Amino acid sequence: MKRKSKILNYCRSLPSLLATCHLSLNCDIIGLVKKLITKPWILERQLNELKEELRAAGFRPFTARQVFQWLYHKNSQDPTAWSNIGKADREKIARLYECACRPVLESQNDEQGTRKFLIGLADGLKVETVLIREKDHYTFCLSTQMGCALACRFCATGAMGFRRNLSSGEIITQVLILKKELAGYSGKLNLVFMGMGEPLLNYESLARALRAISEPDGLNISPRHVTVSTAGILENLKNLEQDFPPVKIAFSLNAPTSALRCELMPVSRRESLDGLLAWFREHKRRQRITCEYVLLQGVNDSPDQARQLARLLHGIPAKVNLIPYNENPALPFQRPDEATVEKFRAVLLEKSLTVITRWSKGQGIRSACGQLAVLPEKP
Ligand code: SF4
Repeated sequence: MKRKSKILNYCRSLPSLLATCHLSLNCDIIGLVKKLITKPWILERQLNELKEELRAAGFRPFTARQVFQWLYHKNSQDPTAWSNIGKADREKIARLYECACRPVLESQNDEQGTRKFLIGLADGLKVETVLIREKDHYTFCLSTQMGCALACRFCATGAMGFRRNLSSGEIITQVLILKKELAGYSGKLNLVFMGMGEPLLNYESLARALRAISEPDGLNISPRHVTVSTAGILENLKNLEQDFPPVKIAFSLNAPTSALRCELMPVSRRESLDGLLAWFREHKRRQRITCEYVLLQGVNDSPDQARQLARLLHGIPAKVNLIPYNENPALPFQRPDEATVEKFRAVLLEKSLTVITRWSKGQGIRSACGQLAVLPEKP
C-alpha cells in the first residue's frame, strides 16, 4: 500500500517536475525525450569506455576489442557481419548501440582526383569532408565544427558563422567514410584537420577522435601522420602538445604584422600573435611548425611584407606554406598572379626559410583551402 501511494505521488508530481525542469533549466523537452529514446552511438566510445560498458552489460572481456577491430580495422559498422562474435551478442550490441556511419548525401569529383563529400548529421546539419589524391599518398581533410566562429575575413567557412561543434563520432565518421572510398588501398594516409572549423576550439572531441585514430585496435594511424591546423588558441596548443606530442601543427599565420593579422583574423585581438610566436620560439618541437600564409592580392603579398615575415619567424623552427588565395565570389579578395607569388617566395628563400607554394587542389568543386562552406538550401 505504502509503495503504491509513493508511486501515485510521484506520478502526480511529474507535470510540475517537468515544468520546473523546463523553466529552470530551459530544457527543450522534445530534445530531452529524443535523447532518452535514442541509442548511444558506438563511434563516440573510446575503447576503455566500451570495455567498461560491455562488461557491465554481461559481455566477455575481449568483446569490446573485437568490436573495435570490426568498426575500425575492417571498417564494418554492420553488427550482422561481425562473424567472430556470437549471434546473440551481435544482436544485443545492435540493440544497445547505434553502429552505422552518418550517410553521405552528395559527393563531387574534380579532374585531379579530389573528392568532396557532404555528410548528413543526425540533427539535420551537414558537414563537408575532402579526399585529396597526392602523388604517392592520400590526404583526408577533416572538419571539426559546423561553420566557424573565428570569422577570418578571407574564409568561406568563417563567413557561414558558427553552428556547433562536431562530436568525436562525427569526426571519426568522416575518416571511416573516406577510408571506404579507398577500399583495398593500404598505402600512406595523411589526416589534416583543415576542413570546416577551428579544431582547437573543439578540443575535447578532437582529442577523443585522435585517440580512436591512433588506437592500435582502432584506426591505428600514427599521430605523426596527423596535422592540426589552427589560427592559434594558445591554451589548447599547449594541451595538444602535451597529449599528442607527435601530431604536427600548422599555424594559420597569413600576415607579417600583428596589426594586419588583427584585421584579417579577428581572433588575433584575443590571442596575441606575439604570445603565440614566443611560445613557438621557446617551445621548440621535434616537428617543425608549418606556417600557412594565404596570399591575398595587394593585401599581404609584397616583397617588403615577405621580408617582414622572415623577421617575424626568426628563431622559430618553421617552414612556410604559401597558399595563393582561392577566390570566392562572396568575399572581397583576389588571388595574386604567379609572378607576385614567385617574388614573395624568392625573398623568403633568400632569408633561408623553407618554403612550399601550395596551389590548392579542388577549386572547381569548392573544396580547396578556405572554400568549404555548406550553402543554405534554395527555397
Ligand atoms: S580560416 Fe579557419 S579559423 Fe579562420 S574562419 Fe576559416 S575555418 Fe575558421
